[in-house]
Amino acid sequence: MLIDTHAHVNSEKFAGETELIIENAERAGLDAIINFGDTMEASFECLQLARKYDICYAGVGVHPEEAFLLGDEELARLAEWSKDPKVVAIGEIGLDYYWEKDQDKRQLQRTVFIQQLDLARQLGMPVCVHNRDAHGDTMNILRKEGKGIPGVMHCFSGSLEIARELVDMGWYIGVDGPLTFKNAAKLPEIVKAIPLERILVETDCPYMAPVPMRGKRNEPAFVAFVAEKLAELKGVSSETVCRQTSLNAKVLYGIV
Ligand SMILES: [Zn+2]
Repeated sequence: MLIDTHAHVNSEKFAGETELIIENAERAGLDAIINFGDTMEASFECLQLARKYDICYAGVGVHPEEAFLLGDEELARLAEWSKDPKVVAIGEIGLDYYWEKDQDKRQLQRTVFIQQLDLARQLGMPVCVHNRDAHGDTMNILRKEGKGIPGVMHCFSGSLEIARELVDMGWYIGVDGPLTFKNAAKLPEIVKAIPLERILVETDCPYMAPVPMRGKRNEPAFVAFVAEKLAELKGVSSETVCRQTSLNAKVLYGIV
């Protein structure tokens, strides 16, 4: 039992190999893969994968690096897709100041982030948040505009203080490949300090493959390496980590 809670199997890096990648995931013991859209087109591709493969679920949304002001038409389309039982979240949404240095475009990212938080609230959906080098603004927006919305801070890169605040908000911390890296910095200490009941494991594939696959194309099956590292850090069995993180994902995303 294991869930890759954040993947992009629709990526062109998997073109022509979708069946193989999904078989690999099944062989590795995964019972779900949640693919997240970063554009409207990619969101629709994730929905199509979810309709085609039992193991696939989808999140729909516009990523900060792809941010554009959402009109009524886009918001209506996201809402329509969300009605599909295999669509489990609005995401990935958030802020990315690592790639975006322009102040006007950062403002646009904040606006589009808030638009999608509002949408999630209206639809009663959880959110998957991407935050890179924008911890202050992301948390400010979540404190003000995210009230009552459940979610996960995916690919967590913040401080222990932020992790604790998110846990207090009832949120989850998503960990992936970087947890297994030698230069993982403070992340191992953070996962040791927060309850396993609040952690999700993910790959963010095709990027950021965990050790021992680092540098290769990442895929959902490799989430097992993240789970193993988490078990080692927590001093529990891999089985416990797989069972608990799967349960966490099922609770957050309402997967039965
Ligand atoms: Zn992602």
